[in-house]
Amino acid sequence: MDKSKTIKIKDVLAHLNSLAPVALAYQWDNCGLLVGDKESVVEHVFITLDVTPRAVDMALESGAQLILSHHPVIFQPLKNITNPLLLRLIKNDIAVISMHTNLDVVPQGVNYALAEGLGLQVMEPLSLQTGQSWHHLSVTVPPDYAQAVQEAVFAAGGGVIGAYDSCSTVHPITGSFRSGEDARPFIKGEGLQKVEELELEFMIDGAVLNAVLMAIGKAHPYQTPALYHFPVANHNPRYGLGLLCDAPEPLNMDDLMQQVRQNLHNPAPRLWTAGKDTAAPLKRIAICGGSGGSLLAAAQAQADIYISGDFSYHQMLDATIPLIDAGHYYTEYPVLRYLDAYVSGLGLKSVVMPLEAHEFSQFHRQ
Ligand SMILES: [Zn+2]
Ligand SMILES: [Zn+2]
Repeated sequence: MDKSKTIKIKDVLAHLNSLAPVALAYQWDNCGLLVGDKESVVEHVFITLDVTPRAVDMALESGAQLILSHHPVIFQPLKNITNPLLLRLIKNDIAVISMHTNLDVVPQGVNYALAEGLGLQVMEPLSLQTGQSWHHLSVTVPPDYAQAVQEAVFAAGGGVIGAYDSCSTVHPITGSFRSGEDARPFIKGEGLQKVEELELEFMIDGAVLNAVLMAIGKAHPYQTPALYHFPVANHNPRYGLGLLCDAPEPLNMDDLMQQVRQNLHNPAPRLWTAGKDTAAPLKRIAICGGSGGSLLAAAQAQADIYISGDFSYHQMLDATIPLIDAGHYYTEYPVLRYLDAYVSGLGLKSVVMPLEAHEFSQFHRQ
């Protein structure tokens, strides 16, 4: 991108949305631009897990016009704006974009960063639940226009299944129609018409459904394309919470605890052995950055060990596979490096809050 071009908050939003669509976030979440003006210009970005008082201090020192955070700076609905932290942001004209559960479920998000941090190989999502539905879409076209319509759908982000893009099926069909009085038909003729057409089918993620429908409208020659779509009961395996990983070489519980201490910089992770031998090699490793307790059953059904944060006493006691509580903060921190890459892709200058500068490192004792 041309570095001399001014970049506005709205440009940053569009870029981030192409990497981790806000539409993938859960309904209860609050993501996107939470403080600030879409039209204001950005040069410096401050990247942090949380918008804490110290993070705001450091953002001001670094001259940032925008804070990019994982945890939303506003989560509960507000009835007034008296919170000193929000007032400080507004007075200093600092915008905040938060990427929370949308960043949890995408490739190049929280869990991919955690897998990379632990030196693990990503196999597939641990759970396919996201905030969005997946759709099957069918549209009929005259054969000469099939390629243009397919390309329009793919360019708008449709036809993605797991790690594969440009997926579609094509069936030859015979369509029929009769033009009404107000019709402006592409294929002209009196009375009932029978035409050889192609039916194109795609899987479309809910996050890009509208963009795909608009793209088809532009590329399709008919006044009124014959098109339908409906949500399917399964989820796109591209997006999901947590990951199932393999170790490039056999690892046991002690090795993984060591990785957590060394690579994630958590000085005191907690291990639940589930009564198993800590020296036995583990094949399938489930991970989830942040609070992964709700995916415990999914992890138990599919993995030999589960690494996440915020496990409770009872979750540990009941778990039949080993658990490593590597800490909410330490398991999510690695994604800040990805966010840094996101914004440098736009040509913005950025500073990432150092792990040891955060309140959690400073005020937490174990
Ligand atoms: Zn998270
Ligand atoms: Zn979190």
